Amino acid sequence: MLRPPLGGQGGLGRPHLISVIGAGTMGNGIAHVFAQTGFKVNLIDVNNVQLEKAMASIGKNLDRQIAKTLLTEEQKKSALENITTYNEVAIGVSAANLVIEAATENIDLKLDIFRQLDEFAPAGCILATNTSSISITKIAAVTKRPELVIGMHFMNPVPVMKLVEIINGYATDARVTDDIVALSKQLGKVPCVVNDYPGFIANRILMPMINEAIYSLYEGVAELEEIDTVMKLGMAHPMGPLQLADFIGLDVCLSILKVLQDGFGNPKYAPCPLLANMVMAGKLGVKSGEGFYNYTLGSKDLVVSGRFKKS
Ligand code: NAD
Repeated sequence: MLRPPLGGQGGLGRPHLISVIGAGTMGNGIAHVFAQTGFKVNLIDVNNVQLEKAMASIGKNLDRQIAKTLLTEEQKKSALENITTYNEVAIGVSAANLVIEAATENIDLKLDIFRQLDEFAPAGCILATNTSSISITKIAAVTKRPELVIGMHFMNPVPVMKLVEIINGYATDARVTDDIVALSKQLGKVPCVVNDYPGFIANRILMPMINEAIYSLYEGVAELEEIDTVMKLGMAHPMGPLQLADFIGLDVCLSILKVLQDGFGNPKYAPCPLLANMVMAGKLGVKSGEGFYNYTLGSKDLVVSGRFKKS
């Protein structure tokens, strides 16, 4: 059972209990990796259906690990037993040493959640956010403990992806950063520490590439499959940028590009009008069934969406 202290010298506490806010795509993955590593986890969502779905997904994902002989049935059982679900933030965080917020990417919602966390989580509890793009400094500023607020940006799918981008807000205490770095390593992840500027590192570099791929399609420089194939085979990317945009969600890509555009005041980050149109039309990628590709046909191979088929 792994119950190491949070952090090195001057550590700010021991993570006996991790509370995860939001049981969506990321929240269930984060709960999964902590529970599998032996931590007790409170998984909290305002939506009971999401909590049920999250527990079912975690069970299925643990089964996948068993099928690959990465895990035993006994370890699956113990991981599931480590997770307790709650539908109220106030109760679910009242004994936590670390809270990781992974609720919907909406600034007002996150500020409201952090006000609640500051009120209900014990003094000394570190408050982390999995936000893709919202300023850690801004989130920290609504709490009375900005030195204990930090970005802990996991990648999707969490049980598989090794990177954790750790983001220091303006006021984050260096001991908190050390603690979160150490904790990420205990989860078997590779932490990279960055500072709090728009898009951090991952999305500051990824989103302009995706936007440029969409512009290339919009301007007719090449067909959709050619753009993705050039980047896959030419740059050894596991998937092309247009397929990746579908996987991330086109609405998410649009909102991150807007954060970059607003944050830097530089028109080079302006989202491509085609991306904006697709989001307005409800074509959000995998989660809506269609984006650059069509996911509704049950085909194992990627199928280009009708809108982008070669004539
Ligand atoms: P999601 O829509 O799948 O899940 C969000 C969950 O938050 C939902 O279950 C919703 O019911 C819950 N929620 C909303 N308000 C809440 C509240 N007040 N209290 C508790 N729960 C609440 O979203 P997601 O894709 O899991 O993204 C979560 C966070 O992770 C976002 O900040 C996102 O930017 C970030 N992120 C997403 C990805 C990705 O690929 N999806 C990758 C990295 C980071």
